[in-house]
Formats: sequence, structure tokens, C-alpha cells
Amino acid sequence: MSGFLYDPKEHPELHEVRWKGVGTADLEATQSLFRRLAFSHHVTPGVLFNTYFKPTLERSGLKATGAPIALASKTFSIAADSLTLKTIVERLEVLTGEALAGAASLIQLCAVLARGGLACRVPQYCFRCFEDDIAVFFCLETAIKTDALFGRALWAFRAVRACPAHGLRLESASCGAPSELWAKGPRTVQLSGVCPRCGSVGMRCQRTEQQVASEQEIWLAAQVGALIAFVSEGGEFSAASLRHGIRQCTERVGQWSSKRAVETGMTGDLIKGWRGGRNRPSLQGLLALAAYVETTLVKIVSGAVGSDVVPGS
Ligand SMILES: [Zn+2]
Ligand SMILES: [Zn+2]
Repeated sequence: MSGFLYDPKEHPELHEVRWKGVGTADLEATQSLFRRLAFSHHVTPGVLFNTYFKPTLERSGLKATGAPIALASKTFSIAADSLTLKTIVERLEVLTGEALAGAASLIQLCAVLARGGLACRVPQYCFRCFEDDIAVFFCLETAIKTDALFGRALWAFRAVRACPAHGLRLESASCGAPSELWAKGPRTVQLSGVCPRCGSVGMRCQRTEQQVASEQEIWLAAQVGALIAFVSEGGEFSAASLRHGIRQCTERVGQWSSKRAVETGMTGDLIKGWRGGRNRPSLQGLLALAAYVETTLVKIVSGAVGSDVVPGS
């Protein structure tokens, strides 16, 4: 090994980095794991990507252009079920020897949902979650060295506007540090939870305060969080179980009348299309359905709504 820097040529394999939060609503985002993996090898995410991932993607005839980290998030936003993201996750598995069932199942989940509007275009965060990650550390350097900070997969969904753990609205990043503190180039630590601008660990530099979220926003976020926990711990679901869950929802409330269409903003034809597998349901639509028939998102996706009639309907 030459000096401090990790030389990829000397190491055909990478050491293991454990995926955080598997089986919980705090499942780590792929982008966050990728950054931690690069950091632990003392290379930038760009070097890691170009050395270990780009050649594999190109051999598979997949596009491997753009800034690697943008790609890690962009793939998620464009098509979470895309071959590119799948290939990246498989490659991570080979390189680190770590079974990534949690992440793989999240890709599978996204494959049964409509792509449009699934992921957030502008990254959003709960800065309070970062604060919690590092709260137990006496010094921030130790927090970084012990690899405590991580970004959550939950924040990548557009339907999620709040942190269910803190009851606060998610915010996009806006560094409030004076420009003379802005770090330049390689000095910046490229980790989720570290401000890319000023290097503040835990992104404590933010200009905007997180507002208190509404009860509905917290409910929605908690539903998606429970679904992430469910699929990442190996909960069973498929396109067929999802269709079954939707069918159970409609059976529960009876005829999908025009009154229901007005109440939910979803027409009978739309729901029929989901039920018959003609089109994939949107996450927002499933959440609205879950709220309307008083069930949970996990029950719909896994086809376990049951046929009990809603009380009072
Ligand atoms: Zn939070
Ligand atoms: Zn900052």
C-alpha cells in the first residue's frame, strides 16, 4: 500500500462494510453505504466507482456515465428497479462479501410500484437523525472514525415528507456557514451527514429549522418506514400479493362508487387497473388507499388486509 491512499490495483476485493438499519425504518440508503465504503478505503466515491463498478456496468452494456454519486442516487430516482442499480448492488455483494438482502429487497419493492414520482429529486434530510447518530460521541472525529453517521433510505421517497422518529418535516440541505468556512475539493469528507460545503459533521450548519410535521405527514412516513423495515428483514411480497392486497381493500369497502372516487381522488378504473396488473400502483395512491380503508401499507403490499368490513361503513 502506497502511503495513506488505498491503491485499488493491489486489492481485488474491498473489505466489508455493514449495511445499517436492516429490518428497521432506518434502513441505510445505498448512496450512504457507497460513500462509507469509499471513505473506509481512503478513496473518493468517484475513485471507488470508476475502479470497481464502472467496468462491470460497461461489460453488461449498461450506462455508467455521470458523477458516480449522482448516479447512485439518480438510478434510484429514475428507476429503482433498473439493471444498473441491481448490478451495483450485486457488485457490492461480490466485493465486500456482505449479503445485501435488505437493499436487494428494496429494489424488488420499487419494481412493483409505479416509477413516476417514487423518488425525491432533491435530497431531503432529517438533521435531527444525524444529531442522534453522533450524540453519544465526545468528539466528532471519533464519530467519523467509528462510522456512526448514515443517510436513510426512507428520505429518498417522495411520498415521505417527515421523519417519523422525530415528528419533524424533512428539509433539503442549505449550508448556513460563512463562505470562508467552505471547504474545497479533496479536503471535504464525502459522507452522508457531513455537509459537502463546509464539512460540518452532522450537518449542524443548516440555515433552516425543521418544522413540526402534521399528523398526516407523520402517519404517511411511518407507513413507508414500516414497509422498508418489513421488506428489508425479508418479509414476503410480490406483484401478486400486492394485487391481492388491493383487491382486499376494495372488497372491504364494497362498490367503488363515484362518491369514493371523489373522496379518495382515485377512480374505479384506476384501481381496477392496479388490481388486474394492467398498471403499477403509485406509492402515493397505495397510501391514500390504506388511509381510506383503514389498513396499513405493509398489509396491502403483502396481501394481508383481510376482508373485515370497516367499522361504521
Ligand atoms: Zn429524524
Ligand atoms: Zn455546511
